[in-house]
Amino acid sequence: MKRPPLNRRLAEFGTTIFAEMSALAARTGAINLGQGFPDTDGPDEVREAAVRALRDGRGNQYPPGPGVPELRTAVSAHQQRRYGLEYDPDTEVLITAGATEALAASLLALLEPGDEVIALEPYYDSYAAGIAMAGGTRVPVTLRPDTEAGRYRLDLDELRDAVTDDTRLILLNTPHNPTGTVLTREELAAVAQLACERDLYVVTDEVYEHLVFDGEHLPLASFPGMRERTVSISSAGKTFSFTGWKVGWVTGAPELLAAVRSAKQYLTFVASGPFQYAVAEALALPDAYFTALRDDLAAKRDLLADGLTAAGFGVYRPAGTYFITTDIRPLGPGAGADGDGFAFCRSLPERCGVVAIPNAVFYDHRDQGAPFVRFAFCKQKDVLAEAVSRLGRLAS
Ligand code: PMP
Ligand code: GLN
Repeated sequence: MKRPPLNRRLAEFGTTIFAEMSALAARTGAINLGQGFPDTDGPDEVREAAVRALRDGRGNQYPPGPGVPELRTAVSAHQQRRYGLEYDPDTEVLITAGATEALAASLLALLEPGDEVIALEPYYDSYAAGIAMAGGTRVPVTLRPDTEAGRYRLDLDELRDAVTDDTRLILLNTPHNPTGTVLTREELAAVAQLACERDLYVVTDEVYEHLVFDGEHLPLASFPGMRERTVSISSAGKTFSFTGWKVGWVTGAPELLAAVRSAKQYLTFVASGPFQYAVAEALALPDAYFTALRDDLAAKRDLLADGLTAAGFGVYRPAGTYFITTDIRPLGPGAGADGDGFAFCRSLPERCGVVAIPNAVFYDHRDQGAPFVRFAFCKQKDVLAEAVSRLGRLAS
């Protein structure tokens, strides 16, 4: 064979960093603050709803392609109740195998080879692979750390300058993984205005919509002119702490949704039958559930952020998500691995029994991400406290 088995589009993508780092944690017995998954399951009543569906024979055979009507109706009601956005459950809601499939299907549906996609760097790793599989070209716009404000900022001029005649869409993510930034009303209004002016689609990944501690989550689709050009994506994994169920959804205007559905039907066709019924019930949980989830995570954010600060890291306190991005340079040359996040993360389990993710993997401009390292705080408080105590030994 002349050619290697893996095609050229995917050749640059090895094993995902999450698989690599979770395997490292398992091998070394270190505390895993790398891959973002909770170490306790979601609400009992939601799990029981899945058991009931399994027992009652709901979803054990192929569910309908667009998703079970109960869940499509629940997603539509959720968008209405939370954001005042009206989506028809039959023509404007699509259920997917997690947000990951929703992203892949959207990119495969909307892109022709050569189309440019603007994505906020650092970006979640499946974006680059999804764009590549669709034959698109990614154009990163780098979120810059603002040390004074303690947050990452979107440079609106840079975003504007990145648009060319080949730009097909902007791939947005708010609340943002890995920086924890929640885009402000002004930032989102500027994205919306640009999309309308240049006639672009926007695919917006809002899987952390319920994990916002400071400020509020504003769906891009609610901005003037955006409903018709926005593909909105979310999923049950983060909101209900069942990341293994892989139930996600897309909302969008009928023409856009039909396009995404065309691609999705040849990926999985359908998935997660009984879990779809359980998530339908979960979405109807009272507001108190969502508030308690947020408050619990906010306390965990504070615990880990304070601990990391005390340990000597530069900390960007996240307004949302369950990740904290840190700067390792303040730890000093040895402890901070000379600002090389990869080297730092690879040696961390041995040095103090903790696993984290080097943000550089989320960058095209790897140098921009080199000194930053991400820690997940969706873990039990005693686990976080133990991690903090171990990390406290680094600088000494
Ligand atoms: N988007 C972002 C920003 C994520 O962090 C993740 C992973 N948690 C996903 C999408 C994938 O979500 P899912 O597990 O529902 O496929
Ligand atoms: N989204 C999770 C994270 O960012 C992990 C998902 C995955 O393992 N692909 O950590």
